[in-house]
Amino acid sequence: MNNSIKKVVIVGGGTAGWMAAALLKKVLLNTVDIELVESEEIGIVGVGEATIPPIQIFNQYMGFDEREFLKETNATIKLAIKFENWRVQGESYYHTFGAPGTQLGFTSFQHHWLKAKQLGLAQSVWDFDLNYLCCQQEKFNIIKTPNPLYEVPYAYHFDATLYGRYLRKLAEKAGVVRSEGMISHVQVNEITGDVQSLLLRDGRQIHGDLFVDCSGIRGLLIKQALQVPYENWSHYLPANSALAVPSERHADTKPYTRSIAHHAGWQWRIPLTHRNGNGMVYNSDFLSDDEAASILLGNLDSKALAEPRKISFTTGRTTQQWHKNVVAVGLSSGFLEPLESTSIHLIQSAIVRLLKVFPHHGIDASLQQYYNQDSKAEFETIRDFIILHYHVNERRGEKFWDQMRHMAVPERLAQKIQLFKQTGHVFNDANDIFRDASWLQVMLGQGVMPLDFHPSVNAIPDAALLSSLEQIRQAKWQPLTQMTGHDDFLRRYTSSLT
Ligand SMILES: Cc1cc2nc3c(=O)[nH]c(=O)nc-3n(C[C@H](O)[C@H](O)[C@H](O)COP(=O)(O)OP(=O)(O)OC[C@H]3O[C@@H](n4cnc5c(N)ncnc54)[C@H](O)[C@@H]3O)c2cc1C
Repeated sequence: MNNSIKKVVIVGGGTAGWMAAALLKKVLLNTVDIELVESEEIGIVGVGEATIPPIQIFNQYMGFDEREFLKETNATIKLAIKFENWRVQGESYYHTFGAPGTQLGFTSFQHHWLKAKQLGLAQSVWDFDLNYLCCQQEKFNIIKTPNPLYEVPYAYHFDATLYGRYLRKLAEKAGVVRSEGMISHVQVNEITGDVQSLLLRDGRQIHGDLFVDCSGIRGLLIKQALQVPYENWSHYLPANSALAVPSERHADTKPYTRSIAHHAGWQWRIPLTHRNGNGMVYNSDFLSDDEAASILLGNLDSKALAEPRKISFTTGRTTQQWHKNVVAVGLSSGFLEPLESTSIHLIQSAIVRLLKVFPHHGIDASLQQYYNQDSKAEFETIRDFIILHYHVNERRGEKFWDQMRHMAVPERLAQKIQLFKQTGHVFNDANDIFRDASWLQVMLGQGVMPLDFHPSVNAIPDAALLSSLEQIRQAKWQPLTQMTGHDDFLRRYTSSLT
């Protein structure tokens, strides 16, 4: 029997659906037919504006001209997230995409910095991070250099709806067929348990061999038709509601996202070239919708352009993200709050993972097993990184924050925090998109301090240690001379498009 996949049907035309359609078509060419079904009546979730640097790999692979992409999606540059009031009210720190200092011999930079601090060094670890310096001065330029000291890793803030349209144009041009219509029934084969076809409200029937469920939080195929259980992580991450509201463009767009903690939840502020994206993430047991709206609207730095829109969710993931002939991508596969802007990345990595083990010769259990193990590990490491921000807080006397501080956390996270406290060392999980520098910044920013530095640093004479740190600090400042204001960069760069 020939079980090869001849037709892929993508359900949904949000960011997940169009990213999947565009990339699958780009890689698989005409070896399979691709049809995407979406319903304008249902619409898309329409939020999701901050990204992390691997989005550049996706865009480059798709062959985007970066200048055109920035223009088409009203994008700005993102160098970091500024976390305000997370450790205690009134303090802030950055999680940048850069890295403080540089590796010095056997030991990581933080050990040298910790010893220097004991010797009286005044500078914070971020003073040795070029991304941080750019954020402080609101400057940016693309620096092409083989020297890691001068690198400025970046991502984007963009309008996700415009990004979807941009991808749709490309995908349709490459041969993806789009069908508009409401799916009223999902036909499941009683013997195999596979999805056989989709029935649209107007009577059309769409058959396929492999279905990619990009239907959003409802999970039309994976949850509703195939009944794959959902693993609920609300005991770790209790937020279950978000309010989103656009506001007028702020005078100067900042090259970073702002995440502002409130007494029960947090607020995001994302600068685009035509408007700001804002929202509030909270748990409805601690904050009513009206209270959340009042905090959100009271903390905008420009005029609201609409009424806040509510989105409800349950943090967690489907226990299998590939079941039978259905692969769930995007919000249908799980939800993690947007604290570290990871959902669009999860879409990207899910499609890449599917392409790695694409069932050209039919669906085999080994492919599904690999896919499901890998996606589980990826979701869990991101979940743990998000929990870290909440758990190690010092906002004592506030019910929500006290609960987050006292809760039991996943064992791997507890171990990571303890190891850092004991040794100053950050250990990496293979599937963790966030590497040492990210964990280091959030742990230090949230007030987790190691007991000591690694003793190997004692081999360096004090004066030599301080002098080498000063050299690194100065080197990190150097590229700033080639930089311009963030808005000025965007204007000049996008207008160089011919
Ligand atoms: C409050 C909030 C803030 C976020 N912020 C960020 C962020 O900063 N960064 C980030 O990376 N991510 C963020 N995300 C996540 C991001 O928005 C999503 O990952 C992304 O938009 C993908 O959504 P989706 O395509 O899976 O689902 P959706 O956008 O909901 O699309 C679902 C699609 O399925 C179709 N559909 C559903 N049912 C049917 C049916 N019966 N018939 C036909 N079609 C159907 C719909 O028409 C639609 O086209 C955020 C999410 C939320 C909720």
